[in-house]
Amino acid sequence: MGQKILVVEDNELNLKLFCDLLRAHGYSVEPVRDGREAVERARAFAPDLVVMDIQMPHISGLELIEQMKADDGLKAIPIMAVTAYAAKGDEERIRDAGAEGYVSKPISVLKFVEAVRALLDADAIRTAKSAASAEEPERPEAALSEGEAAPEASTDEPGPEEEAPPPPSS
Ligand code: MN
Repeated sequence: MGQKILVVEDNELNLKLFCDLLRAHGYSVEPVRDGREAVERARAFAPDLVVMDIQMPHISGLELIEQMKADDGLKAIPIMAVTAYAAKGDEERIRDAGAEGYVSKPISVLKFVEAVRALLDADAIRTAKSAASAEEPERPEAALSEGEAAPEASTDEPGPEEEAPPPPSS
């Protein structure tokens, strides 16, 4: 089974376009038309990626990104925001909210799919790295040998036989 993508988009045509496109590239897709259902649906579907429209009625994509990034069960899922308005500062606000990726509408089909793939790849690399470092026993050992070297450096204190000469008697 392909990787799972939750697509949150209120516009029927865009939702169909995104879902068809992603399915054609082998992904399993879960469409969400109403942003108010997005968090609950994300919990149930456990997607590998969320594609998030920003301009929606009832609740904005920005708000949803913030909610998901504040949720311990959802915050690890990368989010790719899709927005119609590429006003100055938009991308920054979207990234500040916690989105890992950003694509502006109207989308270029090629860029959209590339952005999805890049986010999933980046996430796979990050997951593999954190799993590898969790298994690695080398770190504590390295810390130990550094600790053992430390006393050696402090051994050249003056020995007890090297006493100061007695003061000359007058
Ligand atoms: Mn919209």
